[in-house]
Amino acid sequence: MPAATTANPSRHDVIVIGAGFSGLSAATELMAIGLDVILLEARDRVGGRVESKLLADGARIDTGGQFLCRDMVELNALARAHGKAVSWAYSEGDEVFQPPIPPARGYEIWEGVEALREHIIRLDPKDPALAGLTVSQWIARQAGLDPDVAAAFLRLVEGLWCRSPDEVSFTWLASTDTRITNEYSEMESFLGSTMHALAEDVAATLGARLHLSSPVTSIAHGPDGATVYTGDTTYEARRVIISVPPVMASRITYDPPLPATITDAFAAWGTGHVIKLFIRYATPFWRARGLSGTVMWSAPQGLYACDASREGVSGLVMFIGGSFAKSWRGRPEAELKTFIRTQLVTALGEEAGNITELSIRDWTDDTWSGGAYSDNVIDPNAADPEAPLRLGTGPLRFASSELSPSYPGYIEGAIVMGRFAAREAVQDLA
Ligand SMILES: Cc1cc2nc3c(=O)[nH]c(=O)nc-3n(C[C@H](O)[C@H](O)[C@H](O)COP(=O)(O)OP(=O)(O)OC[C@H]3O[C@@H](n4cnc5c(N)ncnc54)[C@H](O)[C@@H]3O)c2cc1C
Repeated sequence: MPAATTANPSRHDVIVIGAGFSGLSAATELMAIGLDVILLEARDRVGGRVESKLLADGARIDTGGQFLCRDMVELNALARAHGKAVSWAYSEGDEVFQPPIPPARGYEIWEGVEALREHIIRLDPKDPALAGLTVSQWIARQAGLDPDVAAAFLRLVEGLWCRSPDEVSFTWLASTDTRITNEYSEMESFLGSTMHALAEDVAATLGARLHLSSPVTSIAHGPDGATVYTGDTTYEARRVIISVPPVMASRITYDPPLPATITDAFAAWGTGHVIKLFIRYATPFWRARGLSGTVMWSAPQGLYACDASREGVSGLVMFIGGSFAKSWRGRPEAELKTFIRTQLVTALGEEAGNITELSIRDWTDDTWSGGAYSDNVIDPNAADPEAPLRLGTGPLRFASSELSPSYPGYIEGAIVMGRFAAREAVQDLA
């Protein structure tokens, strides 16, 4: 453990590590029932994978997690409780496929992908016949599958999980899909004032319990509690909730070392890779041409754009996901801007070249997220690498969106998992 430590560490009932929606939800839940809780966050801001920035005229946009839908009940309730109005995403008009395909064929392929997802949801992820397969390997075994549907499905997986389907565990994908149960599009709406503003509002209720710029480097733990080290400051608590994604949790030093069940579980996870862009225009010009603004690229693979305009701010949100996002790491930003402009002009016409502002947020290899949107299970032989983390060990419990019983990988999942871990900690302390 570090040599330089506080002489008299502050003592608490629970320490929560990480002020994303999971940690914020755990901490507020514990505070509400009167426990002495503190929240330690590495960055100088809250929100984690939810963050924002100001455009040139002061308009605020989400550069991380942003969208929600009616099915996500906890997130909707939280937004309502903090007076946040929902903006409905524009969805009228046609989608554009790049390279172009006839709309009827596009629809047919999409229906095929949906049928495949329905089939996967009905599978038992514990079926031994599925063990050890990556998503690509499982697809290759589906006799008679339309090759265009297979390719579209693999693109969808890479777009959603930002990691090559050649690496992603099939049984993990199947298990995750059964927990993502929305009937409405997950990009149905967003918060006009930004999702990040909601995180800030929640954090404000914690007052002095929130400690920013406090990266946890190591944790000493035993049957009676834990000591948490952040550089030169030490804290003690009876329970610790580690609300950071699995890959980030594995980078903390634990004394004594964690049991093999947990270290093996950590080793099964890898980060996603995503770059999120906001492309601002004077007007949402595509609407007048009967287009929704949604563009789905099959080449270059891993690109997706949609209309995220709201009152006073017109523009497209665009994602570069998976291997393609990783391939941009370290290349000049000007090159990326030229590439994006060319892609949009090809898809939406010359007007798409009249970009008024372009925001780029590269989450690949992010210091405190590791990557995004979500960590993925990339060891196809790992049986259930969530269970040992949810269970924790001694006074330690792990809680990030990835481990959620509903909507893993989403903001909704982070809220559900944070509250779940808080309730478990309360039971432990009773
Ligand atoms: C570009 C992008 C777009 C997304 N879009 C959507 C969307 O539209 N809708 C949706 O529902 N979800 C979306 N997501 C996913 C969503 O943002 C995440 O699932 C969710 O925010 C995760 O919350 P969390 O609290 O579990 O983890 P995080 O938000 O990652 O929070 C973990 C926190 O722990 C901190 N931390 C890490 N290590 C340490 C340490 N050692 N000590 C102290 N603190 C530490 C981090 O700084 C971070 O603040 C998106 C994510 C990204 C990046």
